[in-house]
Amino acid sequence: MRIALSEPCIKGNELKYVTEAVETGWVSTAGSFVNRLEEDIAKYVGAKHAVASTSGTAALHLALIAFGVGPSDEVLVPDITFIAPVNTIRYVGADPVFMDCDDYLNIDPVKIQDFCTKECDFDGSKLINKITKKCVKAIIPVHIFGHPVNMEPIMEIAEKFKIFVIEDATESLGSKYTKGRFAGKATGTIGHIGCFSFNGNKIITTGGGGMAVTDNPEWARHMKYLSNQAKDDDAFYIHNEVGFNYRMTNVEAALGVAQLERLDEFISIKRKNFALYHELLGGVEGLSFIEEPDFGFSNYWFYSLVVNKDEARVSNIQIMEALKKEGIQTRPIWRLNHEQKPYIGSLAYNIERAYRLHNMVLNLPCSVGLREEEIRFVAEKIKECIRSN
Ligand SMILES: *Cc1c(COP(=O)(O)O)cnc(C)c1O
Repeated sequence: MRIALSEPCIKGNELKYVTEAVETGWVSTAGSFVNRLEEDIAKYVGAKHAVASTSGTAALHLALIAFGVGPSDEVLVPDITFIAPVNTIRYVGADPVFMDCDDYLNIDPVKIQDFCTKECDFDGSKLINKITKKCVKAIIPVHIFGHPVNMEPIMEIAEKFKIFVIEDATESLGSKYTKGRFAGKATGTIGHIGCFSFNGNKIITTGGGGMAVTDNPEWARHMKYLSNQAKDDDAFYIHNEVGFNYRMTNVEAALGVAQLERLDEFISIKRKNFALYHELLGGVEGLSFIEEPDFGFSNYWFYSLVVNKDEARVSNIQIMEALKKEGIQTRPIWRLNHEQKPYIGSLAYNIERAYRLHNMVLNLPCSVGLREEEIRFVAEKIKECIRSN
């Protein structure tokens, strides 16, 4: 491939800090970079506490355990999302309830409201699904491709029905709200716990890693404890809970500290590159983009082109195939989670928009290192594909 979908940019202090970790011998799960990355992320997003982990998936898993979500519970989760948050619901033995998306591919607050009021009974402390009799204990909104979820109505519903909110902010580090009740706040700091990922294709990377943030000291302590095999003391190996080895290493954290130093620069490049794609392709019949909502600022982690097959006379997949021949990597989005084998038969509530939208999207190359002529080349090849059909 000449132009990859998403490649990391590792040109700052990464080598310097990793070398420091190696030279001082602190390469494993103890060491100053882990604490520093936790402090730096907490400060960056404006949260009181941050707990590092081996992955974003691990952070989500720890958050569900911190809330005591278990086999008698249900968790509302988007039908359109990378499958990781859905799997974590199963890790704790709970059932996912798949929810429809809005026009931004994000979980639809209107359908959440409908589900909670029409399909459930509230007994003053618990929201119970009328049919399954299970407790709707948590919601996991996912800020898809970096665009902030409409959290205001979701938090209202959650507060009314005493539901925990775990934000999957794994794709949206640096995104924030600009209007309304949460103006000035970062994605990941609106719900009770927010989770980030530093996987290789995310906006910053530690190779692999994650972070949970919260303002609640008890949840933070509990997640940290669970991530370290629930070890109660330093000498005698006392464990009072089933824990996990979900600790980030100091080498990974060293990478992360250097990457975070450049995050704002990455975001401004991402936004500038998106603007160019938009300028070149936005006016083409049958093409549009998923853009940030008017109440938020997006990190524009991914660039989602929406292809209306009837108007453009080509599908997203046809464009993908044409670009592949030119050495350009693009990708459609995930299949609907309720159609994935492990989740067939799970509850999917009134799915409508997700059916229509998920077959229309094509994600375009979005690396920070993308050059202007490469963006122009990609746009030109997309137009050529449309012209030739
Ligand atoms: C990447 C991602 C995760 C998982 O993060 P990992 O660090 O890869 O475990 C979870 N949810 C979403 C939406 C993601 O994109």
